[in-house]
Amino acid sequence: MTEQIKTKVLIIGAGTGGYVAGIRCGQLGLEAVLVDAGDGLGGTCLNVGCIPSKAIIHAANKFETVAKAADGGTLGITANKPAIDLAQTVAWKNGIVKKLNQGVSGLLKRAKVKVIKGWATFSDAKTCTVSTDEGEITISAEHVILATGSEPVELPFLPFGGDVISSTEALSLDKVPNKLVVVGGGYIGLELGIAFRKLGAEVTVVEMAERILPLYDKDLTAPVTKWLEKHGVKLLLGAKAGAFEKGKLNVTTHDGEAIKLDADKVLVTVGRRPRTQGWGLENMGVAMAGPFVKIDNRCATSMKNVWAIGDLTGEPMLAHKGSAQGEVVAEIIAGHDAVFDPVTIAAVCFTEPEIVSAGLGPSDVEGRDDVITASFPLMAIGRALAIEAGDDGGFVRVIANKDDHRILGIQAVGQHVSELSNSFAQMLEMGAVLEDVAGVIHVHPTLGEAFHEATLRALGHAIHI
Ligand SMILES: Cc1cc2nc3c(=O)[nH]c(=O)nc-3n(C[C@H](O)[C@H](O)[C@H](O)COP(=O)(O)OP(=O)(O)OC[C@H]3O[C@@H](n4cnc5c(N)ncnc54)[C@H](O)[C@@H]3O)c2cc1C
Repeated sequence: MTEQIKTKVLIIGAGTGGYVAGIRCGQLGLEAVLVDAGDGLGGTCLNVGCIPSKAIIHAANKFETVAKAADGGTLGITANKPAIDLAQTVAWKNGIVKKLNQGVSGLLKRAKVKVIKGWATFSDAKTCTVSTDEGEITISAEHVILATGSEPVELPFLPFGGDVISSTEALSLDKVPNKLVVVGGGYIGLELGIAFRKLGAEVTVVEMAERILPLYDKDLTAPVTKWLEKHGVKLLLGAKAGAFEKGKLNVTTHDGEAIKLDADKVLVTVGRRPRTQGWGLENMGVAMAGPFVKIDNRCATSMKNVWAIGDLTGEPMLAHKGSAQGEVVAEIIAGHDAVFDPVTIAAVCFTEPEIVSAGLGPSDVEGRDDVITASFPLMAIGRALAIEAGDDGGFVRVIANKDDHRILGIQAVGQHVSELSNSFAQMLEMGAVLEDVAGVIHVHPTLGEAFHEATLRALGHAIHI
C-alpha cells in the first residue's frame, strides 16, 4: 500500500535553494518534508557544480605552481617535474563532497526536516508521489516549494555520451585528456578548460559568439583572454561546433571554413536549462516565464501557496540566489513580511584571472553622462605584487552617480578577487556612496585596497596612482 504523508511544507530538490529553505523552515518551527532524488544532498552545487569545480581548480593551481618551479624555477623555488594522478585528485574531491553531503544531512536533521530520497511526480499543485527504494509515498502539503534546479543543455548534434561530456563528467575524469575541446566559452567551460590546461591538457575553446564570457564587458574579459593566449589555449571565436566523429570534432570557423579538431574529450558547456520536465509540473497549473517558472518578488508562483526558488526561476542561475530565495519563502510561510528584492546578486567567474561583477556594469550606463566610472589597477597594489597577482591586467572598477555619489556597480578582474565580491555586494546592498568606501581604513597590504583606491580615484584623489 502506498504510504501517505501530510505536511505543512513540501520542498522538492535539496540543492542550495531547497535545503536552505528546509533548514530555515525548521528554524521557524514549520513542519517540512524535503524530497530529492540525488545520491547526496546539496544538489548541483555541492555534488557536480560549485564545490567540486573549485576543488579541481585548486588542485590545478597547485599542479601549475609545481610545474612552473620545475620549468626553470619560480620565486627562487625549483622542483622536479610534477605528475598528476587525476583519479586520486577526483577521490580527494569526492571526499570533500561527501563531507558536505553529510554536513547538509546533519543540519536538516537538527532542523527536524524529514528527508525522503526519491523522484517526486506531481498529480496536482499540492500532491506528489515519490518513488523510493522502499516503494511509493504520496505526499500532500499546504505549501509546496519547487527547487528542482537545472541541467546542462545538450546539443542535438553532439549528444552527451562516450567522449562527449558535460561538466558533471569533466569533474570525475580518471585521467587528464591529451586534447580537450570545450564547446561554449561561458564561465563553466572556461573555468574547467583553464583548469585542464593547467593540468597539462591541450585545450581548444569553440565559441559561437565573437568573444568569450559574452555576459561580461570586454575590459573585464581581456585579462582572461590574455591568459588563454599566453598559455596556448586555442580560441575559435565566431565558430560553430558540429558532430564528433572518430575522435574529430567538426567545426565551422568564423570564416566559414570547415575544419576537424582532434579531441580525446569534447566538453559541451553551452548553458543550463531549468529542470521543468518529468515531474508533473504541467499538472500544477503554474504560469511560466519563458522556460522558467514565473514568480513574483515573494517567489510565489501563479498557484496559491506554491513557491519556486533557485535555477528553476531564472537568471542568474547561481547558488547564493537560490539560498537567499529559500530563506525568504520559509519566512513568508511562517508569516513574516519578507520579499526577495536584492540590490545585487554578485557573480564570480573562477577563471584565470577571476572576475567579479556586482550591480550595474558599463553597458547598463552606456551613454549616460550622470555617472562617474573609475578603475584602479592591481599592479599599483603592493599585496598584488607580493602574491604574483599584479601583472595580469587586473583592476577594480566602480560606477557611481555623479550627483549624490551613490555606488551603482563594482567590478573586478584579477587573481583572488573573488574574495572581494562580498564587500562589493555589501556596499551596494547598504546603498553606500563613494565617500563611505573612501572613508573606511582598508587593511594594508590587501587586495581590498584597490577597491578603496578606485573610490578615491572616482572622487579625484587616488593616492597610489
Ligand atoms: C560546473 C558548475 C559550476 C558552478 N559553479 C558555481 C559557482 O561557482 N557559484 C555559483 O553560485 N553557482 C555555480 N554553479 C551553479 C549552481 O550549481 C546552481 O545555481 C545551484 O546549484 C542551483 O541550485 P538549485 O537549488 O536551484 O538547484 P540544484 O542544485 O540543481 O538542485 C536541484 C535538486 O533537485 C533534485 N530534483 C529535481 N527534480 C526532482 C524531482 N522531481 N524529485 C526529486 N528530486 C528532484 C535534483 O536531483 C537536485 O538535487 C555551478 C554549476 C555548475 C554545473
